[in-house]
Amino acid sequence: MIIAANLKTNHTRRSTAEYLDKVERYIETNEIIDRAVVFPPSSALTPSRRTITVGAQNAYHASNGSFTGEIGADQLDEFGIKTILIGHSERRHIIGEGLDVVKRKFDFFANIGYEIFFCVGEPLEIKEAGFDAVMTYINKQIADINLTYENLVLAYEPVWAIGTGKTATSGDILEVHKAIKNIAPKLLLYGGSVKPENTAEILSLEGVDGVLVGTASWHSENYCRLLEESKKVSRSKV
Ligand code: PEP
Repeated sequence: MIIAANLKTNHTRRSTAEYLDKVERYIETNEIIDRAVVFPPSSALTPSRRTITVGAQNAYHASNGSFTGEIGADQLDEFGIKTILIGHSERRHIIGEGLDVVKRKFDFFANIGYEIFFCVGEPLEIKEAGFDAVMTYINKQIADINLTYENLVLAYEPVWAIGTGKTATSGDILEVHKAIKNIAPKLLLYGGSVKPENTAEILSLEGVDGVLVGTASWHSENYCRLLEESKKVSRSKV
């Protein structure tokens, strides 16, 4: 199982270091067997720890160059970062990254061997139009992506469930995960208002290989609770 924390625009360099210290200690003293991946803000990037992979929430699809306000692979290399989140709904819908930009990012980082956490998911109006509409939407998001890329991890994150407290039902998750796995047999995480109280239930669903968590991961204590919850499920699911 992968338990991934998206810290978004939260935490400073110092508080990220404290966060990672606490989580690392927790993992090492509590026999956590799942994989912890943390995406801090760019200003707090730092090398991965023994038991925690540190990834980038975003980067420009270039090693370096004239892309004001962006960081590229050279800046990530400085910290040994080899994992990146691409296609998160906040980048698609708030920052305005279209399918073309997302594809260029995917191709660039796949070409240099990064592990890519690639997010897909539908907005509310598509969800309300029914399952076929949801899958048509998701199919468009992955249509130009090389789904056979070996370091690809997919994340199903319905936009209406992100940061809203509304989690998809188990039925929704099962149905969409099964359909995505039929198209791309890759590790597939669920994301959208996951919290310690619903982690075990979600992780125990067929086709769920982990969770990508925003809000409930921002305090290290909460993130450790997510890892604790996943331990229960991992032991029975393996
Ligand atoms: C996310 O941003 O990837 C996410 C799933 O956020 P939240 O857990 O807050 O819904």
